[in-house]
Amino acid sequence: MRFSLLDLLIAIALFAVSGIVMYPLAQALNLPFPGSVGFMLGALLGAALWLLLAPPIYWLLRLPPLVLPVCPRCHKRPNRYTITDHQWPRTIAMCDVCGQGVELWWRQPKSTQSPSTLPILVLRWPYSLGRWSPIADEPAA
Ligand SMILES: [Zn+2]
Repeated sequence: MRFSLLDLLIAIALFAVSGIVMYPLAQALNLPFPGSVGFMLGALLGAALWLLLAPPIYWLLRLPPLVLPVCPRCHKRPNRYTITDHQWPRTIAMCDVCGQGVELWWRQPKSTQSPSTLPILVLRWPYSLGRWSPIADEPAA
């Protein structure tokens, strides 16, 4: 899992927005805020805001997702990938465990865009978490 200062700042900003929204809402509903109920509602709203707003923020800023994909070659999740070529929305990366290459796409490639011999993984929604799905498990012969 990848987690940088920018990821932390995005999470803090979204939870701060939930606090800003929650405070007048708690006063309108006569909830004890800050209190345990108000705190729990604020945390739930913050989590919901993160789930709803973090994917488009990551998409617009072209940030890598928090969870790296499992290598389609060795079926292990490496601590990191070494990026050998990157032209958004396509990245060629080398698995840190087996040293094999994998092609990562940030959106569904058009059929003419990828004549690659590498296994291809496509990032699916929510983009901030890192849900990857394979397009081609085995390289073309
Ligand atoms: Zn591997």
